Amino acid sequence: MEDSYRHKGMRKRLIEKLRERGISDERILAAMEALPRHYFLDKAFEEHAYEDKAFPIGSEQTISQPYTVAYQTSLLEIKKRDKILEIGTGSGYQAAILALMGARVYTVERQEALFQKTKALLEELKVGNIRCFLRDGTKGLAEYAPFDKILVTAGAIGIPEALLQQLKIGGMLVIPVGEDVQKMYRITRISEKEFKQEAFDDFRFVPFLEGIKKL
Ligand code: SAH
Repeated sequence: MEDSYRHKGMRKRLIEKLRERGISDERILAAMEALPRHYFLDKAFEEHAYEDKAFPIGSEQTISQPYTVAYQTSLLEIKKRDKILEIGTGSGYQAAILALMGARVYTVERQEALFQKTKALLEELKVGNIRCFLRDGTKGLAEYAPFDKILVTAGAIGIPEALLQQLKIGGMLVIPVGEDVQKMYRITRISEKEFKQEAFDDFRFVPFLEGIKKL
C-alpha cells in the first residue's frame, strides 16, 4: 500500500472541507489527516477516497462518509485510553481513527466476510489497540463491558437495552435511530438507572440488523 503526495494533498483538502462544515476538534482532524482512507477502499474506488462520500466496501455495506465519521467521533468526546465499543466494523476506518486518537477499541461486525477482511487489513496496517469480533452488536459485548463510550455505525430502529446496560456511569452511547433517515442521538448514563438523551442532525446509514451472517 502506498500513500503518495497526491493522496496526501487530496486528504488535506478533505480536512479543509470538514473544517468548513463545522468539524473543529483538532485531534479528530489530525487523525483523519494522518490516516490514508484509500487503504480502506477497494482499488476501484481509490480515486474517490478523498471525496466526502460513502462508498461500497462489499457485502452490501458502505464505509461511512468522512463527515459522518468526524461528526460521530466529535459527539463521543474521546479521551486517551477511553475503552470504546464500536458496532459495525465495516471497513475498519472509524475504528482506526478512534485508535489513532488513543482509545482502546473493541469493534464488532455481524458479517463474517467483512470481519475477516477487515481484521486482516487492520493487522497489516499495524494500527494497534483494536480488537475485532464477529458478533451481533445488538447484544453489545458483555464480557468486556462496561465501556466509556459505545458507537453504533448502522441505522437502528430503536436503542438496544443491552447497549445502555454496558455503559459506565458517565459513559455515552452515540447511535443513529430511524427507518429511512436516522436522527443522531447521544445517550449519557447519569447513574445506574438514569440516562440523559440528546438529539442531533439527520443521517443515512445502512441498517442495523440482528444475527450473524456466516460466509
Ligand atoms: N464503521 C464502519 C461503517 C460500516 S457500515 C466503517 O468505518 O467503515 C455499518 C456496518 O455495520 C456494516 O458493516 C454492517 O454489516 C454492520 N452491522 C449492521 N448491523 C450489525 C450488528 N447487529 N452487529 C454488528 N455489526 C452490524
